[in-house]
Amino acid sequence: MKYDIAIIGAGIIGGALAYKLSEEYQLKIVVIDKEARPSQHQTGRNSGIIHSGVYYPENSLKSKNCINGYKQLIQFLEENSITYKITGKLIAAANETEFSELDRLFENAQSVGLGVQYLTEKEIRKIDPNLTIPKGFFVEETGLVDYSEVLNKFINISSDNGVDFIFGASLNDIAEKDNKYSLSTNGKFFQTKYVINCAGLQCDRVFELLTGQNSPVKILPFKGEYFEVTPDLYQSDIPVYPVPNPDFPFLGVHLTPMIDGSLKVGPNAVLSFDREGYNGFEIKIADALDIVSNKAIYKLVKDYKATVLKEMLKQKSKTFFENKVKKYWSSFSTSEINGYSCGIRAQATENGELLSDFRIETYERQVHVLNAPSPAATSCLAIADTILEKLNKLINN
Ligand SMILES: Cc1cc2nc3c(=O)[nH]c(=O)nc-3n(C[C@H](O)[C@H](O)[C@H](O)COP(=O)(O)OP(=O)(O)OC[C@H]3O[C@@H](n4cnc5c(N)ncnc54)[C@H](O)[C@@H]3O)c2cc1C
Repeated sequence: MKYDIAIIGAGIIGGALAYKLSEEYQLKIVVIDKEARPSQHQTGRNSGIIHSGVYYPENSLKSKNCINGYKQLIQFLEENSITYKITGKLIAAANETEFSELDRLFENAQSVGLGVQYLTEKEIRKIDPNLTIPKGFFVEETGLVDYSEVLNKFINISSDNGVDFIFGASLNDIAEKDNKYSLSTNGKFFQTKYVINCAGLQCDRVFELLTGQNSPVKILPFKGEYFEVTPDLYQSDIPVYPVPNPDFPFLGVHLTPMIDGSLKVGPNAVLSFDREGYNGFEIKIADALDIVSNKAIYKLVKDYKATVLKEMLKQKSKTFFENKVKKYWSSFSTSEINGYSCGIRAQATENGELLSDFRIETYERQVHVLNAPSPAATSCLAIADTILEKLNKLINN
């Protein structure tokens, strides 16, 4: 089959891109995914939060794409009658040592134009009497949604616009002739002028396969585990986030009401020795070797020693969760846990450092999304615009 553009990966980024391309241009597009169904990886295994952009420095891609992506996403949800709820969120400082970071986040939120206000201890207790938080602030622009549903809608609209979605097809080879790529998956061949790599947890390997070059980034897979508790324990649907460690690119174990009415605490950040191992402790040799050869691991351990190491290796530890959550919400207890789920984050590293910002690069007639962790689901439509800009430059050169 002959195409103008092939997108590798039908996650929320590949889906948003197919949607935008097919709404705006008359092009022949194929989206190839190795799984039999959508939402098997990050897009179907996250907190379901529509983020506001509180945490990210004003000029970063995360900040710009999150704020812009938030607006585009809400418009898309409205236009397509997808269930969502704007709840706002509470960022909570549990003790005095966290106050200065809380204040810094508050100033950052104000400088990027978000609606934020400090709440007193009494006001916080009105949200739920068991929130034991001395100081916190409320962010208006936060909501709940099911990102699998958003992705399904992208796929449906794009398919109606003529995009071919091929599931169960893992990209495993590429050849180039007369300015055209020939991509092969298990038994199928696709000819295309341009390729976009939206392969999430496998993006560094897909980069190497498509370019024949070493990837500038390496993925470090961090599992995020959630424990479910009965929703009756919490009187509100406002998510509560602790003040995060500013040097660790994850938001901490938060109290997460989901759009389906369930209530979760999580996610933690545990190193995963299998990039796609969702069933307990699993090891894939290639993935484990990538981890032990990644300098970023040694730097993390050196910089944060016991704290980070403990978190990175503590899988399914209910007491770890109890210590984290009880700091701000006294209703949590391990005896209330009645469910478990997890997702694995594709966190890119470069030169031994965790990459904090989104990263999108071009190579010949290819665009590669090399770092799109949270809040990339919120930002998917803005990220699609950024990819389109880069693609247009390639086409016009
Ligand atoms: C625990 C957790 C919590 C999160 N919480 C939030 C949140 O609340 N809000 C938010 O905005 N973001 C959140 N995120 C981040 C968000 O989920 C991701 O940034 C987003 O889903 C990334 O989408 P993606 O399309 O890049 O990746 P994915 O959804 O992982 O999709 C990549 C696709 O590529 C396919 N693929 C890989 N290799 C190949 C190959 N060789 N050939 C063919 N196909 C291939 C895979 O099968 C997969 O379908 C969270 C993530 C996690 C893991």
